[in-house]
Amino acid sequence: MLKKKIEAWVIRDIGLTEFDNWDTVFRFAMRLSTRNSFIACFMVAALLFVLHAFDVLLNPLTRDLAIGCGIAVIVAFALTMLCCFYMGYAVIHLARTRLEFRQLSRTDMLSGLLNRRAFIEDFSQVERGHLLILDIDRFKQINDRYGHLAGDDVIVSVAATLTEIVGPSHLVARIGGEEFAILFQDTAFAEVVSTVELLRRSVANRLIEAYHQSIAVTVSGGLADITPLRDFSAVYAAADRALYMAKTSGRNRIVLERDLPRSPQAESAGTALADTAISAA
Ligand code: GH3
Ligand code: MG
Ligand code: MG
Repeated sequence: MLKKKIEAWVIRDIGLTEFDNWDTVFRFAMRLSTRNSFIACFMVAALLFVLHAFDVLLNPLTRDLAIGCGIAVIVAFALTMLCCFYMGYAVIHLARTRLEFRQLSRTDMLSGLLNRRAFIEDFSQVERGHLLILDIDRFKQINDRYGHLAGDDVIVSVAATLTEIVGPSHLVARIGGEEFAILFQDTAFAEVVSTVELLRRSVANRLIEAYHQSIAVTVSGGLADITPLRDFSAVYAAADRALYMAKTSGRNRIVLERDLPRSPQAESAGTALADTAISAA
């Protein structure tokens, strides 16, 4: 109990969690240096009084007090400042490294988008919105025909198109090999629908230059609603069902979960969805 109280006091006093810039370090250094100067001054004064009581001081007490306390204040202040800056540098460096590491661990190295883990982490904070899953059509053929490196370029280019159109207000992630996810928040459904259609069209209309080749690609997608009662797996499963329908009904289209037939028999009839898909080739 006492240990916990001391720990809490030390952490509060140091303000360790706030040590992320030189301003905080400087303020902390000033505070601790001033406190240590007072403590050093009191200690020297107490010692001098004791020495004076034993009559071992060579000079008058007031003179020794002035010199002793003056030196104690200057030395304690300077040493504490130095120690604080030394420690502060280490802590700031650690905090920045931790931040960089966190950013790296959340980023997909190929596309520069959020990775699957980071996307799911951020998704769990959201109660309402829409999830779009996009999958590049017949990507295996692109790899087979143009090579794996050209395939990588296609992934990078599609990722760039998505971020360019969606902008910073919505999360865009690469959640699998050639699969992307976009989380739409605070956006009316009609606007989401027109944006996803714009995404599909933009990918389809852009030729991707890779290894002196111009590669045309299309994407299919599934759009599902995020509600407070559904976790990521449930929303993803719904979007994936819609994506499956988009694939089976001809690709290069986005299918809305809202348009999916409810019965299992109807769900397996992908072709029946050709009419309800937002768009088709
Ligand atoms: P569909 O239209 O049904 O989605 O067909 P598809 O060929 O796109 O789907 P499939 O799942 O059969 O193939 C996906 C391919 O994506 C297989 C895998 O080798 C390739 N792939 C996965 N990750 C990467 C990557 O990082 N780079 C490259 N170049 N290829 C990748
Ligand atoms: Mg694919
Ligand atoms: Mg896929």
